[in-house]
Amino acid sequence: MRILHAPDSVLHDPSNYVRRGETVPHPEKAARYHLLLDAARNAGHAVERAGDHGIEPIAAVHTQGHIEFFRTAWSRRDEWPTKSDEIFTGHFARPQMHRRPEGFLGLVGYHTADTSTPIRAGTWAAIYGSAQAAISAADAALADGRAYALCRPPGHHAYAESAGGFCYLNNAAIAARRLQSKRGGKIAIVDIDVHHGNGTQGIFYEDPTVLTISIHADTSNYFPFYSGYADETGTGAGSGFNLNLPLQHGLGDGPFVAAIEQAMARVAAYEPNALVVALGLDASEHDPIGALRVTTQGFADAARTIARGKLPTVLVQEGGYLSDVLATNLTQFLAAFDAAA
Ligand SMILES: [Zn+2]
Repeated sequence: MRILHAPDSVLHDPSNYVRRGETVPHPEKAARYHLLLDAARNAGHAVERAGDHGIEPIAAVHTQGHIEFFRTAWSRRDEWPTKSDEIFTGHFARPQMHRRPEGFLGLVGYHTADTSTPIRAGTWAAIYGSAQAAISAADAALADGRAYALCRPPGHHAYAESAGGFCYLNNAAIAARRLQSKRGGKIAIVDIDVHHGNGTQGIFYEDPTVLTISIHADTSNYFPFYSGYADETGTGAGSGFNLNLPLQHGLGDGPFVAAIEQAMARVAAYEPNALVVALGLDASEHDPIGALRVTTQGFADAARTIARGKLPTVLVQEGGYLSDVLATNLTQFLAAFDAAA
């Protein structure tokens, strides 16, 4: 498996955020990058530094305002009332009062959905690099059938003009548009992160040319709360092209893999030209913020189920936080995928 990564990923290392009512250490640490990269390298995969494909593939997903905001935000820190190594707000734009303000203070809350996506000196370099890893992996998958993008920060909670849930740029969506620009036709995205891929759903909600499917822990009392329900099926021309498969909290391998089988049956019926897997590993039984109980064997079974789809496939790293089994879950997923592809 070709592994695409961006060393700039480590330039973003957030400190704290508000989770379930309390301020806690941020789990989306730069250390994840080293752990996942070392695991892939030690397992014998071909590790490659991502190329720089410019801003255009990112602009195929995100608004110009969103991109420019994050590209320039740290240089505007003098407009922020306090001096800190991290900018984040408690004011957030709501759908019913959407006006993009001019002032920096309001813009931070317009382009973020929660406290988990602070802006630091290295944030833009890190999220740009993470997106480039996804783009490079899309190209690699078209050339060689499959590739893994070590994206950090992750992306699937990011909408076209809103960061949130540790995510700034939607790497899986960017990979999907890249595949579409090169190969044409329809693309499918299957998201197996324990959290609903709300940003990805939002980006393609009216688009019948990208099928979005998310398997995740039920969101009625779990992030991202406001989406992820089974009755969200797309709108307009996109009606029928979004599938949510929420799982009851605490379930293990059987229901998780069964949901992925259901997803892959839908993918097969859709007949896409390529597949993006939003590969969160936080459904693990040992994940510090997960809500399911998937074992290493369960991830390997998931990989085999997806690989049997026989599509050019980009595996895009999403969540999955530091635990004793994170590295093993990645390497076993990749090994099982390679063996079944
Ligand atoms: Zn997650």
